[in-house]
Amino acid sequence: MKKTKVLLICVTIIILIPLSSCDKNPAASQAMAEPSAGFQGGDNYQPLDKGLYGNYYEIFVGSYYDSDGDGMGDLNGIVQKLDYLNDGQPESNTSLHIDGIWLMPIMPSPSYHKYDVTDYYGIDPAYGSMADFENLVRECGKRGIRLIIDLVMNHSSSEHPWFVKAREEISSGADWRYANYYNIGHGQAGDRTHSLEMDDYYYEGVFVDSMPDLNYDNEEVRREFENIAKFWLDKGVSGFRLDAVKWLYPDQQKSVDCLKWFVDYCKSIKPDIYMVGEVWSEDAEIMKFYESGIPSLFNFTFSDENGYPAKAADSGTGAYYANRLQRWDTIMAGRFPDAIDAVFLSNHDQDRSAHYLSEDPQKEKMAAALYLLEPGNPFIYYGEEIGMTGRGRDENKRGPMIWSLSQPGGLTDGPPARDSGYGASRSIEQQLADPDSLLRFYIRAIRLRNQFPGLWRGRVEEISQPDDALAVFKSVDGENILIVAHNVSTEEKTVILEKGKKSLGGFLTAAGGEVILKGNKLTLPGRSSALVVLG
Ligand code: CA
Repeated sequence: MKKTKVLLICVTIIILIPLSSCDKNPAASQAMAEPSAGFQGGDNYQPLDKGLYGNYYEIFVGSYYDSDGDGMGDLNGIVQKLDYLNDGQPESNTSLHIDGIWLMPIMPSPSYHKYDVTDYYGIDPAYGSMADFENLVRECGKRGIRLIIDLVMNHSSSEHPWFVKAREEISSGADWRYANYYNIGHGQAGDRTHSLEMDDYYYEGVFVDSMPDLNYDNEEVRREFENIAKFWLDKGVSGFRLDAVKWLYPDQQKSVDCLKWFVDYCKSIKPDIYMVGEVWSEDAEIMKFYESGIPSLFNFTFSDENGYPAKAADSGTGAYYANRLQRWDTIMAGRFPDAIDAVFLSNHDQDRSAHYLSEDPQKEKMAAALYLLEPGNPFIYYGEEIGMTGRGRDENKRGPMIWSLSQPGGLTDGPPARDSGYGASRSIEQQLADPDSLLRFYIRAIRLRNQFPGLWRGRVEEISQPDDALAVFKSVDGENILIVAHNVSTEEKTVILEKGKKSLGGFLTAAGGEVILKGNKLTLPGRSSALVVLG
């Protein structure tokens, strides 16, 4: 969550739904017609052990896949779509090869988005039962998919029993126990404080009055969240996406120290835990929170329409992108060499990337190639892989996943307050069947990424180019050295590489054509990317 004023962009977009459905790949559409998970990996399936690295996928459960026809996406729906996410076949053209799923909040909550929790030990009935969750954990485990869940530590719901009891304590004049779970005192209403409407008492709620901030000076609150973390780790989750950790305290250092306490506790329970934190801020503040020892933080600097990958894909500023990537990576390498950058184009709080990439499949492919060939862990926001649209109010950014334009099965209703007109021009069914689709490009890009572990771990050394449209850098992982080269322009470009033995590891083209490596000369057609293996 970000404490920010929501910009309501009043734009009505009329989307024409293409009626033609040229079926170039019958096998793909056949796979789509059978929605149940048919994982063929079997009991002996051994997924590649990537450590804490992997390709992650963010899901807003309520909008993903509805398994029982009530219009609400649910946990069983995700189980039914696991083949789409990872079918266990490394060469598959119809599976995204995802290694990790981030579920947006699944705990009981009065809101559609569920970032205000009323029970940290439950599953919201709209999404299913605890048994359904345990089944999802098992099914993900079979495929080597790590499941991380959103944990909202900064605040609870104002309807959480803790806050309800806090009110009761104050109104009855009883001793404070739960009132001390929150930051309550005499004062006045302000940006961060809201009236309890009792005896001049106010409470802190950084985001909104229905989300009172928890008081981490209270050791009882810390014990509560240790118990909550242990509960979910015992259920088999691989870790957490930690919401709004920047706001744990008004003071930055205290927030970092508080996060460190939680990270240390979780690692003591599960040493191989993966956690990624949300510090929606500028470079220096994001970097500061790595002092907590958290494995990953979202790289907001490289996300959104002002992020360097999107700018490069949209405006041809490839060299600048490579320069910024090296700068960011050098700071990380110097201060937090074990940290894993969490890179993404956009998330559930941001306009969907299709908008700022002009809904142009070539730009969308180029942006995807840029961030999917970076070090760290990429996070794909559901629907990005088919160019789903949605911007303005948050509900618009969290719309129903478009599985098919002809078959309604699994389609969710989406958030009720959504504006009409978003999301429906392209479907997964259509794009799985089209080898030139954005989705098939994502699949190829992730397959390419998976072949080069050195790329995930590599340190970035920019190879500066005379041409602004070229983004070229070395990815150095010990003895493993790759050159990543992107041409973000629409024209063919040539890169002269250093002398020495080398081979073409693979390439991606957003607009067709072929990448050619001859001697030291790398020829890149317009909007293409190459991996060159040195040595
Ligand atoms: Ca449902």
